[in-house]
Amino acid sequence: MSEEGKRNGPAFEDARAKKIMIVAHCVLNQNARIDTCATAPAVFPKVLETLVDRQIGILQYPCPELGFLGMGRQGQDCASWDGTYQHESGEVYDQMSVPEGREYLRDLADNLMYQIKEYRKYGFKVLGVLGILASPTCGVGLKYYKGLDQTDGALIEELRRALDRAGLDLPIHGLNDLEPDENVAIIQALDA
Ligand code: SF4
Repeated sequence: MSEEGKRNGPAFEDARAKKIMIVAHCVLNQNARIDTCATAPAVFPKVLETLVDRQIGILQYPCPELGFLGMGRQGQDCASWDGTYQHESGEVYDQMSVPEGREYLRDLADNLMYQIKEYRKYGFKVLGVLGILASPTCGVGLKYYKGLDQTDGALIEELRRALDRAGLDLPIHGLNDLEPDENVAIIQALDA
């Protein structure tokens, strides 16, 4: 390696395409979803196919609800979006918003910031974040909170704050479980 190369670090001039998308965990693992809310047996096939076809690496962030509340979490029923469903444990958004939950989400968001900075430092393109419309946690401009509410989920709130703190710019979009073609269009636009 030349002296210049040593100073600037590795070049990563191998097979990788140097493109990355940050993706909500359940896009590639529906098993993580809260009871009643899986809409596919395993993955979102069109999203996965599109990312693979376009040679975009997948940075799958951990499911925050599973990581903090576990598989037995309750507080949302995807059979009723009108706010009539209530559970004694309360709304998932509120369960994720206790101080320990917010700390957990901030740590997750800060770790993603670190990875984004590292990738960008070495010339990789981090294209954006794909959250999940209507999720209390990963919702982007739409979350479930006592019915559908046109605001971000708890993790997306923390991600936006972390981006501000880090001085980073990154598009964040929500995928729609029921609109695979719209999801593909989002990825195409981010990778234009
Ligand atoms: S939307 Fe977010 S919190 Fe909900 S299952 Fe997917 S990754 Fe987990």
